[in-house]
Amino acid sequence: MPLRPLNIDPTHCLIDGTWAPCASGQVLPLLNPSDGSTLCEIARGGAEDMDRAVAAARAAFEGPWGRTTGVERGRILQRIGALVLENIDELAELEALDVGKPITQARADVVALARYMEFYAGAVDKLHGQTIPYLDGYTVYTIREAHGVTGHIIPWNYPMQIIGRSVGAALATGNAAVLKPAEEACLTAIAFGELARRAGLPDGALNVVSGLGAEAGAALTSHADVNHISFTGSVGTGRLIQQAASQNVIPVTLELGGKSPQLVFDDADIDAALPFLVNAGIQNAGQTCSASSRILVQRGVYDEVVRRMAEKYCELRAGPAMSDLSVGPLVSARQKEIVEGFIAKGADLNLAARGEVVADAPAGGAYVAPALFADVSPDHALAQDEIFGPVQVIIPFEDEAEALAIANGTAYGLVASIWSRDGARQMRLAKALRSGQVFLNNYGAGGGVELPFGGSGLSGYGREKGFEALYGFTSLKTVAAYHG
Ligand code: NAD
Repeated sequence: MPLRPLNIDPTHCLIDGTWAPCASGQVLPLLNPSDGSTLCEIARGGAEDMDRAVAAARAAFEGPWGRTTGVERGRILQRIGALVLENIDELAELEALDVGKPITQARADVVALARYMEFYAGAVDKLHGQTIPYLDGYTVYTIREAHGVTGHIIPWNYPMQIIGRSVGAALATGNAAVLKPAEEACLTAIAFGELARRAGLPDGALNVVSGLGAEAGAALTSHADVNHISFTGSVGTGRLIQQAASQNVIPVTLELGGKSPQLVFDDADIDAALPFLVNAGIQNAGQTCSASSRILVQRGVYDEVVRRMAEKYCELRAGPAMSDLSVGPLVSARQKEIVEGFIAKGADLNLAARGEVVADAPAGGAYVAPALFADVSPDHALAQDEIFGPVQVIIPFEDEAEALAIANGTAYGLVASIWSRDGARQMRLAKALRSGQVFLNNYGAGGGVELPFGGSGLSGYGREKGFEALYGFTSLKTVAAYHG
């Protein structure tokens, strides 16, 4: 299936500015999660392809690309962003077919990808070192330098957004990148490689090699000539990547999962909170690292919140991505099995409500009816483990101290939100919550590309998005001159 109108063959890899089959010539099937059919085939890249991709990136970095100014790179990124927007219909359709994402959400992801390009294009020429006052006779200053070759291991849930925040920041700062998209969903990554090429990105500055994690992914993360790895995905794979990176002693950024809570207090504006409480759990069928899978509610409003969330759940419909319902299919039959396994663990719990899979949903699709559980104990598996599906638990609490203990009582620390009109409480909790992002009377703040993002604990470390990402994709050199 050539990606129209881009006319790229997804069985090809982009290495050194040229699309060609991978060294083995092998391919993998890419499935459509909405009906289980085969969408197309993709290249099954391996170690040999990664060697070539890393060598091409190294040559680009040592060549003219490594000597470009921030202004020049910014202009290229601006052009990439413009081409992304010009191709919004095709990119959105590819993402919807590939990930199973409702088409409206897929379109929003295209816009986000373009925004990342615009943001980093505009930010990079404002990135600079500092002068440091020091001993008499010295002038000391710092320079921010690209790492060199950066490896990007991308998951299937938000390919375009994660390419934007990670590859965008890496290219802006002058790194040369090798991108390994997920084997479950990689069409927009391939399309992005072509758009970047057409926008004038020099050969080798961005290479795209699809394939399996244990093959292409592992070959990239263990490669001796890679200087930085950015990974978004599961905790287990994050550990493997950290181990591989430790052999080469290179920095990694790990964006792993979460068990992000929303804390609803008795004085909250429930009308305002309600859409966020539900949407943050079911967006992208719950396959979001920052999904809000735990809703903590104070006793005074507990019954009302359970009732009103349950009403919303009863209206939720899961169906094919292109029919644009509130919930699409999960990305794969395997992911469906994982999520249904979790729902089965809740057999003894209070199932407050379930949405529905539409009657005409294709039988081969990976559909799960959204499930809302109430009165869940904070230590239950459904309240502790990342589910990555349209499942939320509601947990009651008595007071602020208990809410904080429950909120901080998982191994994760990615996102939290506080619904309360009490400003002092907002400030106390914003400080005390173990979380990379805290939202007050909202959840996600619209996902702005400007907002640094990342976690602690099992959620990983390092920050992407915002200006902060530019620091992550550079290292600091200190220059001390003695002039007497
Ligand atoms: P995964 O972490 O295995 O896959 C993510 C990416 O890592 C893919 O590109 C994959 O090819 C690559 N990969 C896998 N093994 C690798 C290895 N040994 N070396 C290098 N790269 C490797 O995730 P998954 O198996 O697709 O999903 C399983 C679970 O992971 C989900 O249920 C969810 O909990 C979590 N997940 C989280 C995110 C997130 O955004 N934080 C995204 C996807 C999945």
